[in-house]
Amino acid sequence: MAGQTYMGIPREEIPWYPIIDADLCTNCNACMNFCTNDVFAQGEFTTIVSNPYNCVVGCNACVHECPSGAIIFPDKKEFVKILQELREKYKSLV
Ligand code: SF4
Ligand code: SF4
Repeated sequence: MAGQTYMGIPREEIPWYPIIDADLCTNCNACMNFCTNDVFAQGEFTTIVSNPYNCVVGCNACVHECPSGAIIFPDKKEFVKILQELREKYKSLV
């Protein structure tokens, strides 16, 4: 979904997407089956995040689907600060 924006901010500048802890991932594919946005894919050894910017900003639903606690998202408070800074940066372009 290259070229997409969120609140006028290029999606690729927004650091909101899952990270998989490969040490915890059991390759069960629950996340891949759950997310309809094509964010996850089967890697060589574990499931991987293949399309991070397809993740819906603010969604962390797949965290609750992972039986191993292997999916990590940014801290929401920290993320809100980053988003506010980005909104300020792109304000004049909206
Ligand atoms: S947070 Fe939502 S959109 Fe993002 S990868 Fe997980 S289920 Fe998909
Ligand atoms: S749900 Fe968790 S354990 Fe299963 S493939 Fe995804 S990250 Fe790995």
